[in-house]
Amino acid sequence: MAPDSGDLAARVLSGDRCATARAITIVENGEEGSVELLDALFPKTGRAFRVGITGSPGAGKSTLVNAIAQHLRADRKRSVAVVCVDPSSPFTGGALLGDRVRMLTLDPEVFIRSMSSRGHLGGIAAATDDVCDVLDAAGYEVVFVETVGVGQSEVEVAGATDATLIVVTPEGGDSIQTLKAGLLEIADVIVVNKADRPGAEDMAKEIELSLGLRFDPGTGWTIPVTLASASLGRGVDAAWRAVLDYRKFMEDKDLLRSRRRKNLEAKIRRIVESTLARSLWGDGREGRAALGETLARADRRELSPHAAAREILSRLGPRR
Ligand code: GDP
Repeated sequence: MAPDSGDLAARVLSGDRCATARAITIVENGEEGSVELLDALFPKTGRAFRVGITGSPGAGKSTLVNAIAQHLRADRKRSVAVVCVDPSSPFTGGALLGDRVRMLTLDPEVFIRSMSSRGHLGGIAAATDDVCDVLDAAGYEVVFVETVGVGQSEVEVAGATDATLIVVTPEGGDSIQTLKAGLLEIADVIVVNKADRPGAEDMAKEIELSLGLRFDPGTGWTIPVTLASASLGRGVDAAWRAVLDYRKFMEDKDLLRSRRRKNLEAKIRRIVESTLARSLWGDGREGRAALGETLARADRRELSPHAAAREILSRLGPRR
């Protein structure tokens, strides 16, 4: 363990904000000591409820998270953290997100952090999950994970949360297409935001009526579609109540535990795979040397790529 890892872990567990911020930096950058730190914190995790918020840029995700967080702080002063993830720019995400974070006019008690996945073993989903673990161990009761942008990464990030709320708007007309193109499979609650603008109710109805859209055959959960005007503070309670209903449904059927277990399994797999890939292709490794040789032969059309891969695997195989 790096000299101060144990000490840092103890400070995170005591809820020290500076230590928590430092721990997140260590974890997201995969700095020395990050794994030991996570190992030390993990036994104390599992209490936070982790909610993913996703949807197209400009849909009102930040505004909605802000409004829900305020609602939670007003209600029994629950401790809340918000993690903003930008999967599309792993190297500059943190910096670019600075403006977004400044936009939030939250209670200073709410812990806000933007992150990228620089140097993290296991990709964005594992990185997000690790950061959530730090916040969970630090005692935050609700952790929001807001993803910026659209794409496969959001689906992956959903693998690090307990519930996923999708935000759509009546504008643009592409919301239903976006939903169908992948977001629906991760949706537990859908919020039609900007309900102060025309077409919100029609859109909610359209979503509800769309073929089997609201029913998740895996769990039996009927995906609720709620209306909100986050910037006006309307419909925020209803959106949060829908998330809590989902949580209760999952807990009652013991599905939350299996969802978390599934997420853990996926995470362990990703870490193992990326560790293997790194050890295989890292500088000066045998794998790299074998690749160089077979590549030269493939380039001369003496070996197909499949045959090259077989040869590399058979050379390295017995020891793996
Ligand atoms: P994000 O990119 O999804 O996080 O979206 P933001 O929360 O940054 O909001 C994008 C813009 O939409 C901002 O200018 C917000 O003020 C505005 N906005 C958010 N919610 C509403 C709403 O309910 N109604 C209206 N009219 N505008 C909203």
